Amino acid sequence: MNEMLMKKELAYISHKVYGRGLTQATGGNISVRVPERDAILIKRSGVSLEEVTAEDALLISMDGEVIEGFGTPSKEFRFHLGIYQTRPDVNAVVHCHPNYSIGYACLERELPLPTVTARKILEHVPVAGTAPSGSLELAENVTRVFETYPAIKACLMEEHGICAVGDSLEKAYNIATLVEDTAKQSFIFEQLKAMRPAAVTNF
Ligand code: 13P
Ligand code: ZN
Repeated sequence: MNEMLMKKELAYISHKVYGRGLTQATGGNISVRVPERDAILIKRSGVSLEEVTAEDALLISMDGEVIEGFGTPSKEFRFHLGIYQTRPDVNAVVHCHPNYSIGYACLERELPLPTVTARKILEHVPVAGTAPSGSLELAENVTRVFETYPAIKACLMEEHGICAVGDSLEKAYNIATLVEDTAKQSFIFEQLKAMRPAAVTNF
């Protein structure tokens, strides 16, 4: 895929993330690997995923230097680069702030996986420890989780959001939606379980 098409796809997936309610305001950032350039395309900082255009996709080197495009790359460029460096199988990263997942992330709980689908596809969704947005410490925390569990497709980020990965933008987006829907299903399941009358065992 040529670079312009990749920029357009980054904008298209950004709109899908926002449109599906997986993030709010200017939260979230998305990137995609450009192997021919040994670089990544990443959203410009401060732009809402609802508004991202192809021009908001900046090409940055694996050292974080802007190669093409205007403005400042997403403040989370360090953990995007950390994931790409740690995981050669990953070609796309979707970071967003979805409500139910954040609920579990704030409890520092790994994502419960109550459905066969979630268990089959997600297997394990650990939590990266909290640190301020855009900090080196946050980048280290997120990267460390992807290093420690080299097969994971997503992690929760304590007090913050989620990070989903894939070999394409579409796949990383699908993982982000599955993580959030699984968090919502878990929440519903846990509420129903708590309402279960003590005498009823087969509910
Ligand atoms: P950017 O606008 O810099 O990408 O930051 C959004 C965000 O989600 C920070 O964690
Ligand atoms: Zn964020």
